[in-house]
Amino acid sequence: MIVVLRLGHRPRRDQRVTTHVALTARALGADEIWVSTEDEGLERTVRGVVERFGGRFRIKTGVDWRKAIRTWKGDIVHLTMYGEKLSKALPRIKSRKLLVVVGAEKVPRELYDMATFNVSVGNQPHSEVAALAIFLDRYTGRKSLDRDFRGRLRIVPNPRGKTVVDRGEGGRGKDP
Ligand code: SAM
Repeated sequence: MIVVLRLGHRPRRDQRVTTHVALTARALGADEIWVSTEDEGLERTVRGVVERFGGRFRIKTGVDWRKAIRTWKGDIVHLTMYGEKLSKALPRIKSRKLLVVVGAEKVPRELYDMATFNVSVGNQPHSEVAALAIFLDRYTGRKSLDRDFRGRLRIVPNPRGKTVVDRGEGGRGKDP
């Protein structure tokens, strides 16, 4: 069970990046995303992708993050450029229930003490989307990308073009 907790989402400003955090979480093996600020538009967008492309990924917004962290029964990994190296931390992250926390702007200082691990994906500032993707890829042993989502829309890899099978209509070859 992997849940991604997104802190500090500002509905207008971060809509696009938080959508990407959610879709990356889904595509790379997380089960849920919890967002600290309520945002119905974001929920609709993510649920729409799940409806079309499959899987059981869930989204919850307006989550009390302190409570979520305090009541979490498993490891809490906070991704931050200030943390210990990913390669050093990874072998010690053994819990099957994992809460992965990413920020938007500056995260509250107390989070560093609440987390089981503060983990850096390189020590340069980059993006929560990149940090999450690399972390999940490594944590899942580089297997998550090959998962079958059994969705209504299925993309058939094509070296030169787009092939999409719509199992709902039995159609083929249309852009989603
Ligand atoms: N200056 C902010 C801070 O001090 O928290 C960083 C903001 S950054 C745009 C947003 C999020 O991206 C961070 O909260 C962190 O989760 C993630 N992030 C950025 N670079 C990272 C890195 N090198 N390693 C791990 N996470 C990173």
